[in-house]
Amino acid sequence: MTQPFLPFSKPTIDEPTIAAVADVLRSGWITSGPKVQAFEKALSDYFDGRIVRTFNSGTCTMEIALRIAGIGAGDEVITTPISWVATANVIIETGATPVFADIDPVTRNIDLDKLEAAITPRTKAVIPVYLAGLPVDMDRLYAIAKKHNLRVIEDAAQALGSTWKGKRIGAFGDFVSFSFQANKNVTSSEGGCLVVNNPDEARLAEKYRLQGVTRSGFDGLEVDVLGGKFNMTDIAAAIGLGQFAHIDAITDKRRGLAKHYFDLFGADFEAQSGAQLPVADFENSNWHMFQLVLPERITRAAFMEKMMERQIGIGYHYPPIHLLKLYRDRGFREGMFPIAERVGRLIVSLPMFTAMSKEDVERAVGAVKSVLA
Ligand SMILES: *Cc1c(COP(=O)(O)O)cnc(C)c1O
Repeated sequence: MTQPFLPFSKPTIDEPTIAAVADVLRSGWITSGPKVQAFEKALSDYFDGRIVRTFNSGTCTMEIALRIAGIGAGDEVITTPISWVATANVIIETGATPVFADIDPVTRNIDLDKLEAAITPRTKAVIPVYLAGLPVDMDRLYAIAKKHNLRVIEDAAQALGSTWKGKRIGAFGDFVSFSFQANKNVTSSEGGCLVVNNPDEARLAEKYRLQGVTRSGFDGLEVDVLGGKFNMTDIAAAIGLGQFAHIDAITDKRRGLAKHYFDLFGADFEAQSGAQLPVADFENSNWHMFQLVLPERITRAAFMEKMMERQIGIGYHYPPIHLLKLYRDRGFREGMFPIAERVGRLIVSLPMFTAMSKEDVERAVGAVKSVLA
């Protein structure tokens, strides 16, 4: 008997959330309104009272953080080549210059030594990414930022629910950006939020997300900065609120699935297969993804095809940004970031989502072992 297809990711939306969306649709107010305010309040409470503003994507959230920080033409911003292309695109969008630093082969996050080495007098900000939900060394990150007077825009798109030394990612630091895209641990279908440092930054965030507008009195309207159209709808916020209510259970569930992956792969899997497991972190990571780096003897395409034959969906996150044409056209080439290039060529994401069962993990591990045997 053939088994049903196991996707690598799938959202779980419960019935109360679906009912809440229906309520919004019937309410007569479907764009930004009370649900957005309630979502921002819930997020702010979660981040120890820091101010939070929501947007319609994680991408525009980061772009707005860069704009609030005053980043633009002539400035350099350092980030990792192993992320969703959005992370670097937003730097170009502001007119600034993206600079990459290679990754650490074990964590697959930006190597902080290489980040520090890439700083020049033009560097104004850094955008670290917490791949699969695993944070970088946050103490070291902020020590470097302080020493060189840099703003930090944390691309924590994958790290809602992750922690550092017992503190939630987002509850400390400079700008912290999250995404609620459909595959993220908590989704609003599409959306994002930014944790800011003070009311002035929050006011600027509000302007940038809605045409630069400030309203006053009954009919007062002024525009003093160039904003765009980036507000979250109450429909999306209702989904986000319904999901966010389960954040602790979601994180626990994913940690349990990750633990099961490690148990089933076993201590000799790496030596036997030549594949590399992720860092076995059950303290800080929210296990947004469970990623393997394949051995050189198989191509990722061949691996994906063989897993597909076994009814297992495989994702890949991510191809190295600097080798995409837009970035090659800006002078980036093979050989500049060799670790990112190898990891970007061989990394795969195994199935990991809240509704998965332990049996699903068993199927996925059995399939990986048979393909790599
Ligand atoms: C999802 C994601 C983004 C972009 O978020 P959107 O909400 O899709 O715009 C950016 N960076 C990383 C690391 C992501 O995983």
